Amino acid sequence: MSNRQTKTDVILIGAGIMSATLGTLLKELVPDWNITVFEKLEKAGEESSNEWNNAGTGHSALCELNYTVEKPDGSIDINKAIKINEQFQVSRQFWSYLVDNNLIRNPQDFIMPLPHMSLVQGEKNVEFLKKRFEALSNNPLFQGMEFSDDPEKLMEWIPLIMQDRNSTDPIAATKIDSGTDVNFGALTRMLFDHLKSKNVDINYNHKVVDIKRTSDGLWELKVKNDRGSVERHTAKFVFIGGGGGSLPLLQKTGIPESKHIGGFPVSGLFLVCNNQEVVEQHHAKVYGKAAVGAPPMSVPHLDTRYIDNKKSLLFGPFAGFSPKFLKTGSNMDLLSSVKPNNVFTMLAAGAKNMSLTKYLIQQLMLSKEQRIEELREFVPNAKSEDWDIVVAGQRVQVIKDTEAGGKGTLQFGTEVVSASDGSIAALLGASPGASTAVHVMLEVIKKCFPQHLIEWEPKIKEMIPSYGMSLVENPEIFQEIHTSTAQSLGLSDKELSYS
Ligand SMILES: Cc1cc2nc3c(=O)[nH]c(=O)nc-3n(C[C@H](O)[C@H](O)[C@H](O)COP(=O)(O)OP(=O)(O)OC[C@H]3O[C@@H](n4cnc5c(N)ncnc54)[C@H](O)[C@@H]3O)c2cc1C
Repeated sequence: MSNRQTKTDVILIGAGIMSATLGTLLKELVPDWNITVFEKLEKAGEESSNEWNNAGTGHSALCELNYTVEKPDGSIDINKAIKINEQFQVSRQFWSYLVDNNLIRNPQDFIMPLPHMSLVQGEKNVEFLKKRFEALSNNPLFQGMEFSDDPEKLMEWIPLIMQDRNSTDPIAATKIDSGTDVNFGALTRMLFDHLKSKNVDINYNHKVVDIKRTSDGLWELKVKNDRGSVERHTAKFVFIGGGGGSLPLLQKTGIPESKHIGGFPVSGLFLVCNNQEVVEQHHAKVYGKAAVGAPPMSVPHLDTRYIDNKKSLLFGPFAGFSPKFLKTGSNMDLLSSVKPNNVFTMLAAGAKNMSLTKYLIQQLMLSKEQRIEELREFVPNAKSEDWDIVVAGQRVQVIKDTEAGGKGTLQFGTEVVSASDGSIAALLGASPGASTAVHVMLEVIKKCFPQHLIEWEPKIKEMIPSYGMSLVENPEIFQEIHTSTAQSLGLSDKELSYS
């Protein structure tokens, strides 16, 4: 048994993009607070935030069709698309602040400009895409979007996808040049390097195994260190940023807000191509439409990726079923998360989502050749030998009882769960995910530190000039911010001019 015991202001559990972002925000707001981090793996950004474990899309609703649904009257609802776009602008502003103030360097190592495209086939889908384009292209946030159903134009935009395409079905795409590819792993590591330089106490190979409230209102964590002995650390505020591992830790806190919540793990696989002859024929993120019955996070897309100064292509994700909550988790994770307080919620979700579970199990059983067949819907002449399978991160979707959906409703967004006194918060869910980390961590700050908000607001506005403002209602401010962040992040020369 180790004797190491510490008392600190803030403990962040997990060294992914969420803890990295919250730690960096807090260090700017209150530099003298002591922050300690515990990460069970040996490095930062090794789970979902790692560049090979997610798709690296800077989600801003420029290409993701599931953010714009068709209403029963045939019109397109763009509210969610606006919300997600605005949230990404918050991330861009914070990252620009960090670059402008030399807190992180070389933005091209984590963000690159890349056209975002949506691609559909079939008459009905083409009609939908055209309506979506009409609904978005006049909106200031989506300025510069183009639509084409002309195969020649499409050949220019996406040669790899159009070559050897025999289908006579109508096909159409939208394209917008102001999209991005984000290496969230690199960004996470940069932020942790920065935190280390600010004397944040970062402990790798330290797994948090229990969280309890102390009699004086603090939180005490039991932490297993790399030598297998147990340490005890207390803090006034704890953020559970364990990714898929957050739910079991939240349950250990026993706070009322942790009850009646469950997790539904979804695994992922990508096909990756490093053959530069093929890679050079594609330059975009091209999102398709999810298959009927597929969850929104398994929308197929073919993406150019920039990782370690090298370009590659990623196709997927293929979703699958796995009982693990983390890629490095245990097969017992799902079963162990069933507690007396959430068993009926979990059972109801199980009954409601039989077809989804069946779909995920079927997906899991696909052979490499069957996956290549799915890829051929995008790249008709794809050769199996050019593509390898990589295992992606786990996503644990939230299951809870809601008024709209009833008992055991599966949620596809992210959710901040916090104690009523703001002393502990956890982030659950995984979508839109890392792209909106800054917005979500500001939510944590608002929920957990309301007493400091007035004092902190000027600094927050220095870091995020649009804080508290609707960008869609202030198009001039949006243009100004979009242009200046593009400049700071090195995106401007290749992006469309917004002036
Ligand atoms: C297949 C896939 C594709 C995705 N695509 C995108 C995309 O294109 N764009 C996008 O914005 N987002 C995407 N996401 C979502 C995004 O990756 C996540 O939302 C984000 O990385 C979550 O960050 P996090 O810090 O919460 O979790 P993680 O990065 O998973 O970090 C959690 C950390 O906590 C540690 N941990 C867990 N339990 C403990 C414990 N008990 N003690 C100590 N440490 C612990 C883990 O080891 C891990 O390092 C995708 C995710 C997946 C899986």
